[in-house]
Amino acid sequence: MAIQRTFSIIKPDATKRNLTGAIAAKFEAAGLRIVASKRIQLSLAQAQTFYGVHSERPFFGELCEFMISEPIVVQVLEGEDAIAKNREVMGATNPADADEGTIRKEFALSIGENSVHGSDAPETAAEEIAFFFSGLELVG
Ligand code: GDP
Repeated sequence: MAIQRTFSIIKPDATKRNLTGAIAAKFEAAGLRIVASKRIQLSLAQAQTFYGVHSERPFFGELCEFMISEPIVVQVLEGEDAIAKNREVMGATNPADADEGTIRKEFALSIGENSVHGSDAPETAAEEIAFFFSGLELVG
């Protein structure tokens, strides 16, 4: 498997509890290199655009309000099979279903406040990276 890049968000529940470094350490321990990183505050319009694929879901409003409730940390992670590896280290969406040692098992509060986002495929990774980072910020 080739070297890939994927997109990650450390979500408001985690930044609020000062877990940015603890979560970054999990990525690094899994062999993922953080090649870009910034702390930002999303607007409601940006959150709605980013999560547009979920706009018909009953939790859409709650999800967008949550994502703008505190700053987030957006990151680009690089490594061998990075998209799948990141999903593995994140754990299942619902922390009750997440495996031991995963970020969501250790840190997530609920299915909504679940500490991290990670791209699920090469196409979404490319789109999500481009949504938050300019080429100049991606030196590798
Ligand atoms: P992910 O790829 O594991 O993040 O999961 P999904 O793409 O299915 O959902 C996107 C995000 O929406 C999740 O990470 C949660 O923050 C949120 N979410 C998903 N299901 C629910 C739910 O039933 N209730 C609430 N409040 N949020 C949810």
